Amino acid sequence: GATVGDLAEQLDRPRRTVARLVNDLADAGLVDTADGVRAIDEVGPKRAIGAVRETLESRERIAESRLAMMRAYAETSHCRRRVLLEYFGVEAPEWCGNCDGCERHEAHQEQERAQQHAGTDSASDASPLHVDQAVHHEEFGPGTVMGVEPDRVTIFFDAEGYKVVALSALETGVLTARELASA
Ligand SMILES: [Zn+2]
Repeated sequence: GATVGDLAEQLDRPRRTVARLVNDLADAGLVDTADGVRAIDEVGPKRAIGAVRETLESRERIAESRLAMMRAYAETSHCRRRVLLEYFGVEAPEWCGNCDGCERHEAHQEQERAQQHAGTDSASDASPLHVDQAVHHEEFGPGTVMGVEPDRVTIFFDAEGYKVVALSALETGVLTARELASA
């Protein structure tokens, strides 16, 4: 197959532009780049354009979901460190005790303690899902759990990006866990 450099020369376009297009085509499953750039099969221009558009739209959704996650980080009243770690799919304690979110939380807790001495808070989060778990969603397709809360999970979907899904989706079968085959 031709190299990206060959194609750029033949098309008289910047190498970077051609490389990006080739990546889009590869993501859309239209070209194979394992050994130079090669078309995978006889796809008409209509199908090719459709596939590339789908890939670009998927990328746009993922970028938008990243933005939404960043907004959530900026606006959270929870532990900021936890939100950030979960963005990267790292398990984190609910409260780190060192950020402004935790400070506000502690102040709030103290206020509540002062107001009512009685009351037991049993925080048992026996979630059926865990970070890094592979899942499948009826609408959003395959994804990976990035963060777990008592009532909801944050999932990175391959084609959609980050989404927060209520745990009740498990009960209705909309969301299913795909256990990794390990002994
Ligand atoms: Zn914190």
